[in-house]
Amino acid sequence: MTPPSALETARRVRVGEVPAHRPLEEALARAREADSGSRPIHAFLSLSDPDRAQEAGVSQDDGRGSFPLAGVPVAVKDNLCTLDLPTTCASRFLEGYRSPYEATVVRRLRAAGGRVGGKTNLDEFGMGSSTENSAFGPTRNPRDPSRVPGGSSGGSAAAVAAGIAPCALGSDTGGSVRQPAALCGVVGVKPTYGRVSRYGLVAFASSLDQVGTFGASVADAALLLEAISGHDPRDSTSARLPAPDLVGHLEDGVAGKVVGIPDEYVPDTLDPEIRARIDEASRHLAAAGARIRRVSLPHTRYAVPTYYVLATAEASSNLARYDGVRFGVRAPEARATQEVYEASRSRGFGPEVVRRIILGTFGLSAGYHDQYYGRAQRVRALIARDFRRVWADGVDFLLTPTSPTPAFPLGERSDDPVSMYLSDIFTVTANLAGIPAVSVPAGSTHGLPCGAQLLSPAWHEAPLLAAARTLERSLGGEQ
Ligand code: GLN
Repeated sequence: MTPPSALETARRVRVGEVPAHRPLEEALARAREADSGSRPIHAFLSLSDPDRAQEAGVSQDDGRGSFPLAGVPVAVKDNLCTLDLPTTCASRFLEGYRSPYEATVVRRLRAAGGRVGGKTNLDEFGMGSSTENSAFGPTRNPRDPSRVPGGSSGGSAAAVAAGIAPCALGSDTGGSVRQPAALCGVVGVKPTYGRVSRYGLVAFASSLDQVGTFGASVADAALLLEAISGHDPRDSTSARLPAPDLVGHLEDGVAGKVVGIPDEYVPDTLDPEIRARIDEASRHLAAAGARIRRVSLPHTRYAVPTYYVLATAEASSNLARYDGVRFGVRAPEARATQEVYEASRSRGFGPEVVRRIILGTFGLSAGYHDQYYGRAQRVRALIARDFRRVWADGVDFLLTPTSPTPAFPLGERSDDPVSMYLSDIFTVTANLAGIPAVSVPAGSTHGLPCGAQLLSPAWHEAPLLAAARTLERSLGGEQ
């Protein structure tokens, strides 16, 4: 099941042991295989045509030279624009939609020699925590096909967990890379806000959205993140910083570092099996030379409501562009302008997207704006300040669970949006504060994968991934 790592694939292609087109062909065969049984994984909404994938490449001579991703197949979430494949956001609204340009991250991965393997399933427009909100049917968790893979980047997480591709791109607005990584037993990284270009990422909540990477190992997630990072003049929120050297620092360890465990993330109500996995992770970090400290982030309890007020407000504004005139579906029977909007939206949007547009519009409306949106902005500042205080106190990283539960059965939370929203309780804070965070496999609970989350100050991805690598090694993952 396990294909060679991205690092190993790229090495073999560079030295000419393997032709540059071969790894993609093998990945496509594995993707078809994963969908052939009675319980298809359905990680992909579309698969690349290997010939056209090559054409779309920027600098794919023979995939050799110094290309860090030479020949590496990468699964790409279907809310990132590509020229050779449709970009649907798993919405009826954009069924079959072809973007006239490519996302910067896709261009960069191709320029590094990588190949887009296909476009992966997601909750419609990134709204959800299980990938069940896809208009094209759910994805199954490769570790237990009766369960969800998490979401919204569930297809990307499943593609890596099923061994189809060694690494994948996702987007993380409130946890959509880290939570599915945890539920599928793979590595997921959300970088600092501004580290990676959002140009060509279909917007959900622009002040929170960030492209992140999945890997079967920390090294593969780091390799892909390095390739897509760095300033992009096409995204005004992209930081003027060069791509960091991540792979070169992976073995730096955690000696002398201070790791904080925030009380609010290990409440008395936490599943004891998850608590045991986090305790074990902290013992491993201590054995590697880190000092462990209990800390407090007192505004954590407001994070989920704050996130849902802000994310829905921004979504209601971003999704106004789907009017039946400019993108995707248009109700053919509609005559007047208002009718085009109404009929196209009724046809194109699924129930969760409609719920969010209504919530967001309400939170921004005259008379309620200060009470909801304005107040949530102020609480967001307090949540960010909690983090700055612990960093100022000498803490280098925070260790928390990624998700309060392991993967749940398909259908279990579909009719209960609030229980679905609570899946994000440990992940939304990093988006609200703009800081980087990574989820690393930390053993199993109830026979299912469990993730440990590490968070760090902004721009500290290199030491953060070195800490993640320390955990991975001591927990018996990739040697
Ligand atoms: N599950 C969260 C939500 O539904 C986060 C989604 C995301 O990060 N894209 O909004």
